[in-house]
Amino acid sequence: MPKRVMGVETEYGLTTATVTGAPSTLTPEDAAQRLFRRVIEWGRSTNTFLENGSRLYLDVGAHPEYASAECDSIDDLVATDKAGDRIMQSMADDANERLAEEGMPERIHLIKNNVDSAGNSYGCHENYLIRRRRDFRARVDALVPFFISRQVITGAGHIRRQPGMGGFEISQRADQMWDAVSSASTRSRPIVNTRDEPHGDIEKYRRLHVIVGDTNMSEISTGLKFAMTEMMLVLLDDGVIMPDLSLVDPMRAIRDISRDLDLKVTVEVEDGRRLTALQIQRIYAEAAHRHYESRGYLADLDPTRRQMARLWLEAIDLLEQGDLDPLRDRLDWIAKLTLLERYRTRSGLGWEDPRLSRLEFAYHDLSPTAGLYTGMVKQGLLARIVTDDRVADAMTTPPATTRAALRGRFVKAASEARRDYMVDWMNLRLLEADGARSVILKDPFSPVDKRVDDLLEHL
Ligand code: ATP
Ligand code: MG
Ligand code: MG
Repeated sequence: MPKRVMGVETEYGLTTATVTGAPSTLTPEDAAQRLFRRVIEWGRSTNTFLENGSRLYLDVGAHPEYASAECDSIDDLVATDKAGDRIMQSMADDANERLAEEGMPERIHLIKNNVDSAGNSYGCHENYLIRRRRDFRARVDALVPFFISRQVITGAGHIRRQPGMGGFEISQRADQMWDAVSSASTRSRPIVNTRDEPHGDIEKYRRLHVIVGDTNMSEISTGLKFAMTEMMLVLLDDGVIMPDLSLVDPMRAIRDISRDLDLKVTVEVEDGRRLTALQIQRIYAEAAHRHYESRGYLADLDPTRRQMARLWLEAIDLLEQGDLDPLRDRLDWIAKLTLLERYRTRSGLGWEDPRLSRLEFAYHDLSPTAGLYTGMVKQGLLARIVTDDRVADAMTTPPATTRAALRGRFVKAASEARRDYMVDWMNLRLLEADGARSVILKDPFSPVDKRVDDLLEHL
């Protein structure tokens, strides 16, 4: 099976709580600057590439972002994603130590979710390298029903807080996609960003930039999200005729699906049928499996991809039977619903109760002491794809089998030699008194390059 490069961008929510319980006087901008103090010292900017090949930056606003290095396996992707969490959390630990030293009552918390308590939304973008084809737009449009319905498997779960409409729903992003579509002229725009910026050879590649997904905590949910989508893109790259499931009203569908915990609600297909999200997922999953089998790809798959491919079908079966129990330790929305529902029934609370909201945020809190997801992993309540050691390693080591390996080596060597340099996804540039020595890395698949060896030699 052909290799594929993938990357995940995560924007984190930043909140401050005080140890005294008094209101915090730290503005979000202050908190973000404190969070990035070490990064600014190290890279002289709030936008930097790390020796693990990933990018760490602070855009306008106060949502720090970690954009993972290019990965060609689900294992690397999950490891570098979790490494990003740990890098961010170590920055928060450092900032919190300072706050304590200064006698300030505030402590910074990083929340890996998609909606803050004020209702602001931030994203988790998936990036997939695909082959450039003339019918890109039409083929991406054909994937819209897949992206609308996959939330029943990959959603992170969410307490809806609108007055009179409170309740638990499957996706954090479903409600956020509304504005995007109302101003967009083409259907796929809110789900997939169509900006043509491949970060690679523009003749050969496109980068599919998916913005509709929830940020996941569960490694299995992340792994499934990428593995399922990759399988769809193999169909796309191979020119397979996709099942035509164009939806009459995709944005209504995404919300209707998100709100129906019974997974029974149907959405209208342009050919007049009404299908549930699970029926749509089954059509795609079976088409993908059939194609993989006919091309002999299944035998090629690494263990994690094989496990994810199987789990895609299994999850559809279980969800269709209403048997959530076996998925409780794997899928975010079910793990979270179980946790919240238990607390809610025990204490007789309504979904609008702020205590439930706090519990929801705690699931996504990266702090090793306050974070509920982290605690559940420690107790063995959530299944994993990678080990702690692998994650620790990915904090400083780039994925070995993509261009990220070259970037990582360069960043490490140049910063150790205290040289001035500039890096982005495609460029390595060593700044010297008489100009710059640059290497352009147009091939995202290649972890070796003689020109980079020479550049490092020159250091
Ligand atoms: P924005 O910040 O506006 O979202 P962006 O999506 O262009 O911008 P980054 O935040 O820098 O850019 O993230 C780029 C992501 O794309 C990273 O996760 C990276 O691993 C991934 N990526 C880089 N090159 C490729 C490629 N050729 N194909 C697919 N993904 C890629
Ligand atoms: Mg980004
Ligand atoms: Mg992006």
